Amino acid sequence: MEPSLNGNSSGSRRDGDSFVSTQFVAESLIPTASGKYRVRAYRHSYDGGRTCSEPTCIITGRPEGGEGVPVRVHDACFTSEVLGSLKCDCADQFRLAQRYIQEHPPGILIYLQQEGRGIGLANKIAAYALQEEGLDTVDANRALGLPDDCREYTSVRNILADLGVRSIRLMTNNPRKIAVLEELGLVVVERLPCLVQAQEHSLGYLTTKQNRMSHIMGAAVADEPAELDGSFCFWDHDGEPLQPSPMT
Ligand SMILES: [Zn+2]
Repeated sequence: MEPSLNGNSSGSRRDGDSFVSTQFVAESLIPTASGKYRVRAYRHSYDGGRTCSEPTCIITGRPEGGEGVPVRVHDACFTSEVLGSLKCDCADQFRLAQRYIQEHPPGILIYLQQEGRGIGLANKIAAYALQEEGLDTVDANRALGLPDDCREYTSVRNILADLGVRSIRLMTNNPRKIAVLEELGLVVVERLPCLVQAQEHSLGYLTTKQNRMSHIMGAAVADEPAELDGSFCFWDHDGEPLQPSPMT
């Protein structure tokens, strides 16, 4: 394992020839409008250091060594989380997960810098431009010559290993997300669905997630609005396509 910046090597791991490394940097307790959260910062690379991201682990309570810990794995979405875009449900899902772990500690929210299913913010805006011409989120990526999905989740495995979490209840509507994390060796004992009601601007996007990406959206995209009971939590930004994508 490589030494981390603070000399603590926990959370680091090499994976065959892909050379994955996830280094713990520091933890701070941050007060927010919805309560206090432990925020653990990491630096992560999955390609031997050529590229690097900074995953953060947002925690309530003491999940260390726990089983069946509620976990949401959330990919960054500047457009909804910062700008307030109504084109997707990411910000709403983030808030639901944040509230869930505050009300049901211990819990973990892992925030990854993988905007637009990993293609980056600028490419995501380019895809939006094509969607204005009628393409859906999957076809827009393909028209740009971009992969449907180039996210990778080795940092999630390493961060949970760093915390000694033995099994999780994953907050997601995306069955493939569970499969991908299980392939990485995580033990997912339950899925916690988390549905955000579709509205005018996100209905097309959420319907695409359901029809083309195998997401379990239930009444969120049905004709009749569903009542949100807040008992779920949920996730996934943009989900994944039906076709397998290369995972490292
Ligand atoms: Zn989004």
